Amino acid sequence: MARKGVSYVSAAQLVSLSGDPRVAIVDVRDEERSYDGHIAGSHHYASDAFAERMPDLVQATAAKETLVFHCALTKVRGPSCAQMFHDYLTEAKEESGVKNIMVLERGFNGWELSGRPVCRCKEAPCKGACS
Ligand SMILES: [Zn+2]
Repeated sequence: MARKGVSYVSAAQLVSLSGDPRVAIVDVRDEERSYDGHIAGSHHYASDAFAERMPDLVQATAAKETLVFHCALTKVRGPSCAQMFHDYLTEAKEESGVKNIMVLERGFNGWELSGRPVCRCKEAPCKGACS
């Protein structure tokens, strides 16, 4: 399957993408998620255990086409987990419908600073919908 490299998406683009059921948001922050809130509907795969949990993420997102990774700033953890997952899928160890792997520009902090909605539920994955 042809799969491009990791690309970037802005918060504004993510708002329009997030209504699509084939899109999943993957939060790879660590403990910050529990006190800073999160983007509604996001999955949580903390970067410190990300490598071991990739098989779970494959299962959880098998029906998705696009995954959008982010951490707090999307400088280190978000892009590196996105790349790691991209490489993992490319090695085709498991079946997945995922075609696009993206990272959210400026991460969760940029999302929150631009006035986008933040969910504070305790569920992972979050069952809320982006609005
Ligand atoms: Zn939530």
